[in-house]
Amino acid sequence: MKINVSRRRFLGTTAALTLGGIGADLFAQQPQDLLLVNGRIHTMDAAATVVSQVLIQRGRFAAVGNRVSARGARRIDLKGRTVIPGLIDAHNHIVLVGNRPGWHTPLEHVFTIADAIAALQQRAAGVPPGEFVTTVGPIAANQLAERRLPTLQELDAVSRPVYLHAAQGGARTNTAGKAWLEAKGVTVAADGAMAGPALGLALQTLRKELLTPETRRRTALGALDYYARLGITTHRDCGAFHSEQPSGGVANENMYTMHEPFLALHRDGKLPARLRIDFLHQDPSTPLGAAAPAAAPPLPTLGPRLRNAFPFFGDEWLKTGGIGEFTGGGADGLRAIARAGWRAEDHALNLAGVTNLIKDRETVHAEIPIGSLRWIISHIPDFPADLANRMNAMGMGVLVGWGPLRNGTNVGPPYRMLMSHAIKKGYHSDGGDITVINPWLNFYTIVTGKNLAGQAILGDQTLTRQEMIWLATAANKWFIEEDDLGSIEPGNRADLAVLDRDFFTVPEADITRTRSLLTLVGGRIVYSDLPGTAA
Ligand SMILES: [Zn+2]
Repeated sequence: MKINVSRRRFLGTTAALTLGGIGADLFAQQPQDLLLVNGRIHTMDAAATVVSQVLIQRGRFAAVGNRVSARGARRIDLKGRTVIPGLIDAHNHIVLVGNRPGWHTPLEHVFTIADAIAALQQRAAGVPPGEFVTTVGPIAANQLAERRLPTLQELDAVSRPVYLHAAQGGARTNTAGKAWLEAKGVTVAADGAMAGPALGLALQTLRKELLTPETRRRTALGALDYYARLGITTHRDCGAFHSEQPSGGVANENMYTMHEPFLALHRDGKLPARLRIDFLHQDPSTPLGAAAPAAAPPLPTLGPRLRNAFPFFGDEWLKTGGIGEFTGGGADGLRAIARAGWRAEDHALNLAGVTNLIKDRETVHAEIPIGSLRWIISHIPDFPADLANRMNAMGMGVLVGWGPLRNGTNVGPPYRMLMSHAIKKGYHSDGGDITVINPWLNFYTIVTGKNLAGQAILGDQTLTRQEMIWLATAANKWFIEEDDLGSIEPGNRADLAVLDRDFFTVPEADITRTRSLLTLVGGRIVYSDLPGTAA
């Protein structure tokens, strides 16, 4: 039986994490066609069909129904389990997460300090003595029952230096980490906290001292594996703030080199998920109607990008996209993107912001029609229906999500209004630096209206569970511009997740703990913890 390199790689990276074991047998069977039977398979086709069987041949769904037969396919009895199309996160910052320093350990699946410590201890067991166990981004105080980060004393239960840098503020280290950081000039409080300039210096120092091409590659693979276990099969990355040198900013990286670890994984055929790459640009803005500032060349980074790069270039595993989540250069930037025929995305943080973005696009659209380019505005916390009308008239779409760590009442976005509106809409987490990528934390908020601290933040703008999965699968076809992903239909690429519980019926409180037992990307088993499938 052939045991390939990717299997050994997978066992090595997952052994230190806490989401469960591996159904090793499935890896050996991977080249075979698969017949999945006795499932509750939510296809997310236009009729919301639920079937019990699906046949996968040569990486694509060959037959979907209740009386599927196949010769020579490996039969997997799902024993009534729920299946959904592989989740598409149509805007996140997975490339940032894949470039974190140290033995990076995403912690978006733990809900108490004790569980966080246990996960870090398990990770530490596979880390050479003296090397840093880190979590930079994928943890937040609000996800933990204690609503705070672990203290230095609690982190001392981990046998390696530890550095935690939370998505919504704050960083913590333990005694070993404190000694290392203080020797480099970082001020650490007695409880292990770093704040203000010390926070940036700590992260910058860790990046300077610990990052190598090999560690970046290890972390990139670990990040993709982690989210494959939560059911994400396609990430659309929306960039980073550019820093030429190692930065202290959690959202900063070198936007010209940060994709290298992912490109290396792709070269070696080891990507466990699909990656779609957008390019973020922040050239100085020229106000509408004003002359370009004489001192600066117009569009110093966006211009070369549009002239020298290719949109939608790559293959089914890794592909470039458009410009975003910032376009830069104001209306001139938009004009250049429209002329080049590229997709463009900007985010909006409030009503004034989104109103201005729409006004600029209307101006440009009148000169250079953008109706076929699928331009996007994301986040849109405050977004009345008349703005949806105006965007829809230009053929634009909105990405929504971005909620589990938010506070306040009726903080939006208005999911319910959008569901009954004709505008194209899709799901994004925007996670990786300021919020969480774990789809089930995001789905919990969108379905229940509550943030992770249990406070009602969405008013009456929640979605049904069916609508939620549709938004994160079939609805996102439009945003990645690929019709053969996002639904379980004959001919489509075989991306799916067999869930560990029935998301559609479990009590609300259980939604956050949902994970995948079996994740397929293009019919390839990228993660399995499915009991009872051993030969
Ligand atoms: Zn973003």
